[in-house]
Amino acid sequence: MRRGLRTWISATLLVCLLAGLAGCGAEAAEPAEEAARYDAVDFVMGTVVSITIYTTGEDVTGDIPPLLSGLEDQWISWRKEGSELARINANAGTPTALSDQMAAYIEKALAVAKDSGGAFDPTLRDLSALWDFESGNAVVPPEAEIAALLPYVGYEKISLDGSTVLLPEGTGIDLGAIGKGFGCDAIQAYLEARPEITGALINIGGSSTITYGTKDDGQPWKIAVQDPRDPTGYLGALTLTGTWHVSTSGDYDRYFEKDGVRYHHILDPQTGYPAGSGLMSVTVISDGGGVSDALSTACFVLGPEASMALLEQYGAEAIFVDVNKNVTVTDGIRAQFELTAADYRMV
Ligand code: ADP
Ligand code: MG
Repeated sequence: MRRGLRTWISATLLVCLLAGLAGCGAEAAEPAEEAARYDAVDFVMGTVVSITIYTTGEDVTGDIPPLLSGLEDQWISWRKEGSELARINANAGTPTALSDQMAAYIEKALAVAKDSGGAFDPTLRDLSALWDFESGNAVVPPEAEIAALLPYVGYEKISLDGSTVLLPEGTGIDLGAIGKGFGCDAIQAYLEARPEITGALINIGGSSTITYGTKDDGQPWKIAVQDPRDPTGYLGALTLTGTWHVSTSGDYDRYFEKDGVRYHHILDPQTGYPAGSGLMSVTVISDGGGVSDALSTACFVLGPEASMALLEQYGAEAIFVDVNKNVTVTDGIRAQFELTAADYRMV
């Protein structure tokens, strides 16, 4: 009896204790640590970079600008003396050994060049320099000078053999049309290596954006697509969930007008003149930064019809805006794009 009572008391105590522990546990199971939002704006890669990061850790927005400037200085800027690309270009005519990273960059650029039939072409360095849209006081170059440089243009002139590259003398590589996208790829790798970062929205120069993870309120990302004829206005908004790369190429960033003609910085590698596909902008959405950036340039040169097979090959979606303000959106993204600018129409 006594023993029975003791057993009963012990059992009851145990139950109470377990209940208590469970209670304690319930109290201890505080809501998962909340991610805080950090914002920063900086100037890097010759442009404005805006950064939003949601994290349960410390503010790391300051890590992004040096990551991008490092990418430029170390590898992909042909203008920065000391970059690997400057060294490759200086060595034209001689086989040059590459770092693994540089070999991967050139390989990706060559793949899009080939798949786009040369609409995206990474050998436009001297032609772009001749047009000199960056200067702000560019003029139409003499036809003979354009013609003289065309023989040095052509992605098929680059021979990449594993980790060795060979350029013919006179040909130079320009990764300007894919560089910001590589920047977004590098940012994605940075974010993925840090589990405390739950979400991020980072934009380079208005033209390359990465969405990563989720916002703290669980709402999807909203990306504004620029109105190609109103620098302060928006064409519409893209709604995206998770990790995506969005890149826009347009005729409104670097251009000048002469005799009623708009000369812009996206060149047709066939002619050496600004691409005349009848577009004002193309926005590409895909799962790769370099891919989105290179495709937006390629699709701008190709125009909507010729771009469809290329986009499909890369599992990418696009928004095309033509000079008559008609907007064409590929099927896979139509439900996620809302046109808001009143003077444009969906076709
Ligand atoms: P942005 O740099 O404004 O985001 P793009 O990604 O379209 O725009 O890149 C345009 C830059 O790429 C030009 O300034 C020039 O250096 C280079 N470029 C121009 N036309 C082409 C082309 N057809 N293929 C590859 N690079 C190009
Ligand atoms: Mg591009």
